[in-house]
Amino acid sequence: MLTNDTLAKWDRETFFHPSTHLAQHARGEAPSRIVTGGEGCYITDRDGTKLLDAFAGLYCVNVGYGRREIAEAIAAQARELSYYHAYVGHGTEASITLAKMILDRAPAHMSKVYFGLGGSDANETNVKLVWYMNNILGRPEKKKIISRWRGYHGSGLVTGSLTGLELFHKKFDLPLPQVKHTEAPYYFRRADPAMTEAEFSAHCAARLEEMILAEGPETVAAFIGEPALGTGGLVPPPAGYWAAIEAVLAKYDVMLIADEVVTGFGRLGDMWGSEFYGMKPDIITIAKGLTSAYAPLSGSIVSERVWKVLEQGTDEFGAIGHGWTYSAHPIGAAAGVANLKLIDDLDLIGNLRRVAPVLQAGLREALGGHAHVGDIRGEGLLQAIEFVEDREARTFFDPARKVGPQVAAAMLRRGVIARAMPQGDIIGFAPPFSLTEDEAGRIVEATAGAVRDVL
Ligand code: PLP
Repeated sequence: MLTNDTLAKWDRETFFHPSTHLAQHARGEAPSRIVTGGEGCYITDRDGTKLLDAFAGLYCVNVGYGRREIAEAIAAQARELSYYHAYVGHGTEASITLAKMILDRAPAHMSKVYFGLGGSDANETNVKLVWYMNNILGRPEKKKIISRWRGYHGSGLVTGSLTGLELFHKKFDLPLPQVKHTEAPYYFRRADPAMTEAEFSAHCAARLEEMILAEGPETVAAFIGEPALGTGGLVPPPAGYWAAIEAVLAKYDVMLIADEVVTGFGRLGDMWGSEFYGMKPDIITIAKGLTSAYAPLSGSIVSERVWKVLEQGTDEFGAIGHGWTYSAHPIGAAAGVANLKLIDDLDLIGNLRRVAPVLQAGLREALGGHAHVGDIRGEGLLQAIEFVEDREARTFFDPARKVGPQVAAAMLRRGVIARAMPQGDIIGFAPPFSLTEDEAGRIVEATAGAVRDVL
């Protein structure tokens, strides 16, 4: 067996990690951990340290680690048929079954699912579909996509542009010119203190309308948003936000893409974030919870209206020139089928609905009165704490103090993984849906202890 030192050396010398401070990692200064096992809500590393993963990896291991049912479905699929492509109408039992299972769960106006590998490529597909559609509809100038500051939609060229976080643009020459960013639905930080939530929603909708008019409605194709902001700070929208936004989109014939990579398949307590907030998207992006990350798989669910135009396009111009070698990979599809079945069989969304309020109430009780806790928020098992220097004025800490990362590091020392979100002093909680009340209690205890350590 390789020693930890050998692995650490090879890691530094050969492995180019995503979203990592490369120089610090190469010098051995950045935290690194070699993870060896997972069971339920816990992961274990090579040193034998067991950690409660209150962020489910990257909020994706929704059913928890170590599910034999999914592992066995993957193994069976690999034995029987490890791969066949989905081009020119090919399919496998797993991919067709999964498409049916997704559509059975999707909002009624949705029609078909296109399979990809991850959230980024799915959103890339969505932008291409919108452009293709508008070409078919004879309005080739209608191509711009509006996203929000603090939205997260991936880190490719188009999707990194859609993402509204500076870190993902900096030194990459992004965003691309076809992408525009509007106001974030971030009441706590962005609203004027005198505004109600409904007034702030109206303000966001008015800003969107101004942008559409300034760009020219004939040039704006689609608006993309996560039902509740994820990586940009775990922020549920203010009251009335989606209704106000959708009214503007309808007025200018702008399509809505709901990026449900995080919120899809139950994280907010309903099957879809769109359902939770009463949205009616034209396209829904899915990934993460589709397989609970047991294998890479994503999808774009398109509405009947979109589908009809795509069909018309291929009748006029031939087969659609868009596909990945691994679209609808049978191993990912087998994982997806087993995963969705497990969510139903164990009523994991029901469990989430019972435990999520326990976690939030615990956090509020332990930290609601703390001088540096500005906001405790979230829906379902997508929750966050935002730290502030001054509670009344909601002022930021000096970023050099790294309060968020320090609290997360102190939690880690107490055996719990929370995520320091990339912008602002925010720590996020998005544990597996199988979380127990005891585990919720452990998260609260570790958070309260860590806040005492740091603040
Ligand atoms: N969309 C949302 C809402 C996400 O949170 C993410 C990833 O966190 C993505 C898209 C990109 O997914 P991936 O990292 O699988 O490309």
